[in-house]
Amino acid sequence: MTANATGYYTHADCRRHDMGEGHPECPQRLDAIEDRLLITGVGDALDRREAPPAALSDLALAHDRMHLAALQGLEDQLAEQIEAGGPAHIHIDADTSMNRHTWEAARRAAGAAIAATDAVIAGELENAFCAIVPPGHHAERKQAMGFCFINNVAVAARHALERHGLSRVAVIDFDVHHGNGTEDILAGDPRVLMVSFFQDQLYPFSGNVPKGDNMLNVPVPAYTKGMDLRELLEQTWFPRLEAFRPEMIFISAGFDAHREDDLGQLGLVEQDYAWITHRIREVARKHAGGRIVSCLEGGYHLGALARSVEAHLRVLADL
Ligand SMILES: [Zn+2]
Repeated sequence: MTANATGYYTHADCRRHDMGEGHPECPQRLDAIEDRLLITGVGDALDRREAPPAALSDLALAHDRMHLAALQGLEDQLAEQIEAGGPAHIHIDADTSMNRHTWEAARRAAGAAIAATDAVIAGELENAFCAIVPPGHHAERKQAMGFCFINNVAVAARHALERHGLSRVAVIDFDVHHGNGTEDILAGDPRVLMVSFFQDQLYPFSGNVPKGDNMLNVPVPAYTKGMDLRELLEQTWFPRLEAFRPEMIFISAGFDAHREDDLGQLGLVEQDYAWITHRIREVARKHAGGRIVSCLEGGYHLGALARSVEAHLRVLADL
């Protein structure tokens, strides 16, 4: 273990959360990433760690207590339903449902982000990637939605601010969908700068009007390609990030802006994810001692997801 190592946090319980047959947010996503890291040898270069479960007090850093109680209530209701021979899932909205393992998986996912934050701030790791599900960036303070229950990145960012006493953290969201949940939780917090891009007029159809001065939202039209996006980010994200001088950077790392991903219509490829990661790493090295915690969000084409995560990790780990 060296101070410039890259951590890789995950947990077998994340693999047990599923939202039913044919759902794009499926356990095979984590398998595809694991396979790719194994085949390429990239996994050997990472400091692999088991994610601990987050405590309720951790989740309450970003969520209303009623929201947490409601999720726990659904967990109990589901247990009774299954015992009575009923369905194995409980629906929260049309595309978001819980099975018996969802609550535990969600606690492990947030726990991964918190533990990664602790290790990076302690200087055990330079940066870390959390291979976690459920994803988090659509989960609002009081509402689970869009495959998300707990906002992993918002919990970790608040953990860094409240418990480690950092005064400025940046949240960078490059998922194809707008991170409405993270915006809902962190808008108006002057200790946070959130920058994101997302496909315009796509789920959750928010973000065109930012909810706070600390939100830099960059909607991009469908079919935008990587080179055009890079130019746009150089003009928007990076001057704001440089001026903000973050002490730590959190990434909502969704890979569904890939051109092979059917959930969005953007045209990014692996090299674009490598470029974005490289530019973020430059900002982190200049202002934040290299400190980055990156959390998996979307990415539903299994091959494209695995190759893009590999590209992201190769840059984080200097491979
Ligand atoms: Zn997404």
